[in-house]
Amino acid sequence: MKELIDRSKNIVICTHVNPDGDAIGSSLAMRHYFERKGKEAIVIVPNIFPDFLKWLPGADDILVHTKQETQAKAAIEAADLVVVCDLNQSARLANMEEDIVASKAPRILIDHHLDPDMEFCRHIVSEPTMCATGEVICRLFTDMGEMDNISENEAVCLYTAMMCDTGAFSFNSNRPVIYEHVSRLLSHGIDKDLIYRNVFWTASEARLRLQGYLLYVNMKVLYNRHAAIITLTNEERRRFKVKNGDTEGIVNIPLTMLGTKLSVFINEDTEHPGTMKLSLRSVGDFPCDQMASKFFGGGGHKNASGGRLQCSMQGTVEKVKEAIEYYADLLK
Ligand code: 5GP
Ligand code: MN
Repeated sequence: MKELIDRSKNIVICTHVNPDGDAIGSSLAMRHYFERKGKEAIVIVPNIFPDFLKWLPGADDILVHTKQETQAKAAIEAADLVVVCDLNQSARLANMEEDIVASKAPRILIDHHLDPDMEFCRHIVSEPTMCATGEVICRLFTDMGEMDNISENEAVCLYTAMMCDTGAFSFNSNRPVIYEHVSRLLSHGIDKDLIYRNVFWTASEARLRLQGYLLYVNMKVLYNRHAAIITLTNEERRRFKVKNGDTEGIVNIPLTMLGTKLSVFINEDTEHPGTMKLSLRSVGDFPCDQMASKFFGGGGHKNASGGRLQCSMQGTVEKVKEAIEYYADLLK
C-alpha cells in the first residue's frame, strides 16, 4: 500500500451511499493523510450526508455525486489511485458504482464489514473484528509508523469515525486496543467532548417532536418477542418537516427498554417512494445481519444491519413480523 501511495499523485476517496460518521470520518482522515504526504486527494460520496457531520475538517470540500456529477466524474477519471472506505461490496456505492468500476486506477479497500468482495479491489485491508473503518486506519497508521505524525485534523476524523460506529463507545467497543488508539488521538490535541456534542447534541425541534411522535404513536412492541418496530412514511416526513439526518439513531431507542433484544425501523425511501429502507439493531447475540440478508436483501453487522423492500408500509410491517417469528427461538 505504501508503495502504491508513494507512486500516486491524484487520489479519489469514496465511501458508501447514505454515508454515516464512520464513512465520512474515515474518508476525510485518509484525505488529510494524503495531503500531508503532498498528494492531491478528494473525497466523493454517492449522495448527501447528515448535517451533524458538516463541521468535520474538510467536509466542505466533499463532492456529492448526485449534485456535482460532472466534477465527480472528472475527478474519478483523473485519479491514479482510488481508495474505498467502509463498504464490502461495490453495490454499496449505488449511483457511483459505475464510475468507480470503470476507472483504470488501482483500488484499495479499507473496511470492517464481513465478507468483502475480493474481486472488487486488488488491495484489501479488511478486519471485521474492528469497531470502525476508523479503527482499521488507526491500525494501518500504527503499522506504517505514522501514528505519531498525524495532524489534529486526521485525529479528529479518526475519533469521530470510531465514536459514531460504537454509539460513543457504548457497543462493539470492548477491545482494549480501541482505547490505546483513542489515547494516541487525544495526545494529538483533539477535544473529544466537543466532538461528542457536535455529533450527538445537535437535534432540531423537528427532530425532537418527530422522536416523540414515533415513540408514542408509531412504535409497536411485540412483548413476547422482545422486539419493537417503528415506521415512518414520506407523508409523516413532510408533516414533521423531517430533514436528512433527523432520523439518525432513533432505531436505537427501543433497545433502551428493559429486555428488548431487537429494534426495526422502517423508513420509506425519500428518493424512491414505495421502497422501504429497513434498519435493524440488536443487543447481545441476535444476528441482525442474517435477518437482513434472509428477509430484506441486505446485510451488515451482528448488532446493526439494513436492507430494503419494494412494498407498501403495511406489507413491510407484515414481512418484519414474519421475520421476527422465524427467529422466535432467539427472541424468547
Ligand atoms: P443503517 O441502519 O445505519 O442504515 O445501516 C446499518 C448497517 O447495516 C450499515 O452500516 C451497513 O453495514 C448495513 N446496511 C444497511 N443497509 C444495507 C443494505 O442495503 N445492504 C447491505 N449489505 N448492508 C446494509
Ligand atoms: Mn463503519
